[in-house]
Amino acid sequence: MSMSMLRKILSNIATLIFPRRCIACGEYVAEQMHGICIHCRYDIPLTNYWLTQDNPVRERFAGIVPIVEGSAFFFYSGHSLWRSLVHRFKYGGRWHIARTMGRWYGSELRSSGRYDDVDVIVPIPLHPVKMLKRGYNQSAYLAEGMAEAMGLSVERGAIYRRRNNPSQARRHTAERWQNIEGLFGVRHPERLKAKHILLVDDVLTTGATMTEAIRSILDAVPECRISVATLAVTRRITPIR
Ligand SMILES: [Zn+2]
Repeated sequence: MSMSMLRKILSNIATLIFPRRCIACGEYVAEQMHGICIHCRYDIPLTNYWLTQDNPVRERFAGIVPIVEGSAFFFYSGHSLWRSLVHRFKYGGRWHIARTMGRWYGSELRSSGRYDDVDVIVPIPLHPVKMLKRGYNQSAYLAEGMAEAMGLSVERGAIYRRRNNPSQARRHTAERWQNIEGLFGVRHPERLKAKHILLVDDVLTTGATMTEAIRSILDAVPECRISVATLAVTRRITPIR
């Protein structure tokens, strides 16, 4: 018997003894891929935005800040399973979900061939106070999973948050923009010099936070290129101008 066959048999036995739960629906399943059962893989409202440059995420930044590629993995809507999945890794302590979803998203980005010349992944940082409260930055775990699947490294400390701004979700559009100016600082511009950076965040709503992060990086490191990838995106495009 070959080693790979033995390994497969042992892993099947392990699945029988310790069945795994699907990270989306929570059902015990024998067969899963990226931690997600076959039903949920069929059910997830994927955007497929990473397959084309001409998509609503990239368009959201057009004329405001220059980006190379822009994408989101799935639609964030209503009271869906997928919305609650994001809530669980964002507020519920389940950071490993972010990493697992990151691996899946990263493998799709990789197969698209559109992200081949990305050099480094940078997660949108949390303010240290929020980081202490939550214990982790969900976007950093998402970035780690993506990096693993894409064969890239994560530059965690390159940018930082200057202020601990309250959630953008509860603000009006104009307020959001006033609140966000100068929000990010770049700590290690030399680490990003001449690189193609993939900026990663969990949910894209207005794009205001992401736009400010891009502006700060381009100000500090003019000779870099930036692409954007978020795990989820709201279905309705909120105008940011
Ligand atoms: Zn499932």
